Order: sequence, then C-alpha cells, then structure tokens
Amino acid sequence: MTVRIGIIGTGAIGRDHARRINQVLAGGKVVALSDVNRESAKAVRAAIALDAEIFQTGEDLIASPLVDAVLVTSWGATHEQYVLAAIAAGKPCFCEKPLATTADGARRIVDAEVAHGKRLVQVGFMRRYDTGYLALKEAVTSRTGAPIMVHAAHRNPTVPAQYITPMAIHDTLIHEIDVFRWLLDDDYVSARVLFPRRAARSHGKLRDPQIVVLETAKGVVIDVEIFVNCHYGYDIQCEVVGEDGIARLPEPIAVQMRLNATLQNPILTDWKDRFIASYDVELQDFLKAAAQGTASGPTSWDGYVAAITSDACVTAQEREGEAVAITLPARPALYN
Ligand code: NAP
Repeated sequence: MTVRIGIIGTGAIGRDHARRINQVLAGGKVVALSDVNRESAKAVRAAIALDAEIFQTGEDLIASPLVDAVLVTSWGATHEQYVLAAIAAGKPCFCEKPLATTADGARRIVDAEVAHGKRLVQVGFMRRYDTGYLALKEAVTSRTGAPIMVHAAHRNPTVPAQYITPMAIHDTLIHEIDVFRWLLDDDYVSARVLFPRRAARSHGKLRDPQIVVLETAKGVVIDVEIFVNCHYGYDIQCEVVGEDGIARLPEPIAVQMRLNATLQNPILTDWKDRFIASYDVELQDFLKAAAQGTASGPTSWDGYVAAITSDACVTAQEREGEAVAITLPARPALYN
C-alpha cells in the first residue's frame, strides 16, 4: 500500500521530509501540501516535482479524502491544533518536535489519543533512530553495568539573534531530554541549571553557555553543556558512566588526516548533516505504521514528558543553581 501523505508546513524540514518521502523512502507519496505562505508550498511542489494539491488550511488538508496520513512540520506553536485535528479525523500523524509548546497542550493531545483508543501520533525525536545512539543503548543495556552518570554536550557553531535563553531548552536541549529517558529507560525527578560566565558571542537576551543537571528516578545524574555559540562546529557528545565501564556516543564518520605536522579530524558544522540518516529511518518507520492505520516510535506521552521537563528546566534557568522538582502524572496504559 502507498500511504498518501499531506504535509503542513513547507519550510526547511517540511521540504526535506517531502523530498525523502518521494525520492528516498518506500511506501509513501506526498499528495497534499499546506503552508500559511502559499508561495512556499508552491515552490516546494515545483522544486521536488510533487504531484500534490495545495490546501488553504492545514485543517482542510487533514479532512481531505486524498490524505491518509499527515506530517506536521509547521511552526511549533501550531502543532497542537493540527495534531488534534488529525486524531479527530483518525489519521496517523507525524509531528516534528515540539509536540506542543505547553505541557497542557501536549496533555490535550495525550487525552485525545487515549480517548481514540489507538496510537496515531509519532513525535520527531529522530535521535532514537540514530545508529550511534542505538549502539550506545546496546552497550549501556548489556555491557557497562547499571548507569551512574551521563556527561553530555550539545554545541552549535552559532544561532540567530532572536535565539534567547529559554530556547536553549525548548529548541536545543529537548533532544537530549527525550533521548536520555530512552537511553536509560528512566524518568527525571529534578532539574538544575548553572551558568558560567557569559561567552563573548552571547548577547543581551542569551546567557550562553549553560549546564543543565538532570537527576533521574533511578538516581542517575546527567550533566549537559549547552553552548550554542561555540564557533568551532556542531558537536554532540555523550558519555555514560556505568558500574563496570564507560560507553561513548560514536563520532560521525570522518576521514582523519595527517597534514602540516598535525593530526586532523573534521567536525560537522550543520545540524542537518549530523542526524541525516536517522530522519530517513524515523519516517520509514512512520510510513510502515501508517500503512496499518497506526503509529510507532516516540509517542505523544514522550512529547508530553519532554514538555513537562522543558518547563522545569526553564524554571531552573530562572532560579539559577536551585533544583526544580519534576513530577509526572500516571502514564496511561496506551503508552506502556
Ligand atoms: P521553518 O523553516 O520556519 O518552516 C516552518 C513553515 O511553517 C514555514 O513555511 C511557515 O510559514 C509555516 N507555518 C507557520 N505557521 C503555519 C501554520 N499555522 N500553518 C501552516 N504552516 C505554517 O521551520 P523548520 O526549521 O522547518 O521547523 C519546523 C518545525 O520542525 C519546528 O517545530 C522545529 O522545531 C522542527 N524541527 C525539528 C528538527 C529536528 O531535528 N527534529 C529540525 C528542524 C526543525 P512562514 O515562514 O510564513 O511563517
């Protein structure tokens, strides 16, 4: 079966997902597009040579009998309304992070999906599909012994001027928030944020870098350095310290060179390159489940927990140095 896909939001990632569905993956075809900027949808249709209808609104696209399943890749603040509409229509829905910009919004999605009685939503936490993280999880599960600590870093070369301190959580750390729950099979109980001196490339509304310390229910302490103006590259680091040994996230493959009396390893500079293969695998997973009228992979519950944890981390930024408790409601059986 070919799943007929409608994409809402044809910016950077919507366009890239349209390309991979039509040109890289099996089992899906983009048949519909919608964007508040209709010209953007038209440009994507032309650039990828899509045989797709352009809809005035995301809701019209979701309601169309042309569309079997939906990708929500619009601006974050619009995700909730489209995911709720997809659930109401009973259509599988892949939603880029964040599932919703508030924990209450994510909870409404969880409640709607639970009321529907079957999974329909996959959240775009693509690191769970990355071969490096999968290998790390295998090592942590079967070889290092029980985890005790995680040391991690999320470094970007630069961010735009409108990037402000809370975005380091909602836009950047959110990937670590999800992937460490999955990696450790654990949940968070508290968050704390420490700020070293402001780096020279920070600006008035951005305190950069920062260190987020998360504690889990099993007592693992995770420190994550977020440094979004590090200048030298896009660099994701993760080391898990266990009872018997240490496991490190593999570096991306790069040709090592001996040149001018130095040993050199290139470092990526664009986030799009770092997890490019995992975007393919996550969407292939979505297409496979959507063909059965359901969803797999990261759940609405994962998106909800990420939203609760993000909110606690932003509060921890405001109360620098203080531990902020993270309390999760009971998990509905649909997500067990
Ligand atoms: P983008 O380039 O700004 O694209 C978003 C598109 O959605 C724009 O064309 C925007 O139009 C459109 N839009 C805004 N409001 C809309 C609405 N109500 N209905 C339909 N379309 C609407 O952003 P992006 O980088 O593609 O990011 C999109 C989402 O993907 C964000 O939530 C982001 O966090 C997520 N993302 C995830 C990853 C990942 O690694 N998983 C990576 C990148 C992005 P205008 O430009 O006219 O506003």
